[in-house]
Amino acid sequence: MLPTEVIERKRDGRELTPEELAAFLDGFLSGSVADYQISAFLMAVYYRGLSPEELEAFTRTIIESGSRLDFRDGGPPAVDKHSTGGVGDKVSLVLAPLLAEYGLRVPMMSGRGLGHTGGTLDKLESIPGFRTDLSLEEFRAVLGDVGCAMIGQTPEIVPLDGRLYALRDVTATVPAMPLIAASIVSKKVAEGISALVLDVKFGRGAFLTDRYEAVRLAEVMVGLSEHLGLPATALLTAMDEPLGSAVGNALEVAEAISCLRGEGPEDLREVTLALSAEAVAGAGAAPAAEAASRLAKLLDSGAALDRFRMLIERQGGDPAAVDDPALLPEAPFVTEFQADGSGFVTRIDARTVGLAAVELGAGRRRTGDAIDPAVGFDVLVQVGEHVSKHQPLIRIHARSEDQAGRALARVDTAVALSDSPSPAPAPLVWKRVAAR
Ligand code: URA
Repeated sequence: MLPTEVIERKRDGRELTPEELAAFLDGFLSGSVADYQISAFLMAVYYRGLSPEELEAFTRTIIESGSRLDFRDGGPPAVDKHSTGGVGDKVSLVLAPLLAEYGLRVPMMSGRGLGHTGGTLDKLESIPGFRTDLSLEEFRAVLGDVGCAMIGQTPEIVPLDGRLYALRDVTATVPAMPLIAASIVSKKVAEGISALVLDVKFGRGAFLTDRYEAVRLAEVMVGLSEHLGLPATALLTAMDEPLGSAVGNALEVAEAISCLRGEGPEDLREVTLALSAEAVAGAGAAPAAEAASRLAKLLDSGAALDRFRMLIERQGGDPAAVDDPALLPEAPFVTEFQADGSGFVTRIDARTVGLAAVELGAGRRRTGDAIDPAVGFDVLVQVGEHVSKHQPLIRIHARSEDQAGRALARVDTAVALSDSPSPAPAPLVWKRVAAR
């Protein structure tokens, strides 16, 4: 089939066979199908979706585009978590060393920033010297020594996801349920882990804003994962406001370090502990409630932070950054967005804050753009809080005054104040989805 025929068929809502899908995607990797043809195909999938058979074939093709690891070797259980993407979501940076300290192995393969959301790889790379492009041999060695290792899609593992991911990021085709499911599940199956926990975000800053659509995504991913031999559960977590207060790569690393020191912020700690406990339970190591209290102690004692220091060192980064955040990149221009009146904070729109961060340079506008690790925001208030006129609401870290001015205009629309408080927000960890 010609590439145009594949695109046409999906565009018209007809089903492709596994062979047709595989040949089309392989053509992309070998160069016979162009980027613009894949982009058109992704947009067709965005509108038309994929049948369960197509989704499975699509996911298998991504897995088979590279090698598959296998950590079911009699050593400590290998587990991982993956998020569908949020703003200020630095959970992975805390969870990986925390679970390693618990005694599990975490061979984590993450992504870069996508759309208005940040990516774990970009965050880690803001630590001076930190390498996320380890060879498989190096990846295994770090995992063996530290208990966790953190890399991205590589030419060796799910290279097809790396290529598709980069195109989706810049063609407005991220928020498509089958594309998210295939991207995440392929990476996790290829990691060769024995249990997976998914953090499926819903709300204003998530790709799927509607919570019931998010439940559907969770069910699809858990089902797909189990079908491909990887036991999985999902937690649905709220993403209306940024998680924690930091948004932007180096700022988020500093906040993750604070959480690893047992200092919170509270929402980040709550989500991280819930997902980590779920991973421990998935591995069969302990029931979730029992795991949660031990995990909390590992944060409070600083043991998980020591593990993060080891990870940074083994992946080429400067471990001193853990104790001296001034070693992380800092933006030259810092200013504050202040309340123009008094009142209760009723909204801090995560999506608007995420887009403003991309505009500052914390994310990409085009594939391959360099990102600025230093820029971003500290959200200084929380929904429900009463603020007074001129109280700083958001601190802006920018490259220039001009850039800060543009960011200020954007974040101005993100925050809403009202004379009366909004009703109590829904729980942060809302629901659990397991295999049927
Ligand atoms: N994370 C991924 O790895 N892929 C997506 O599509 C969304 C979030």
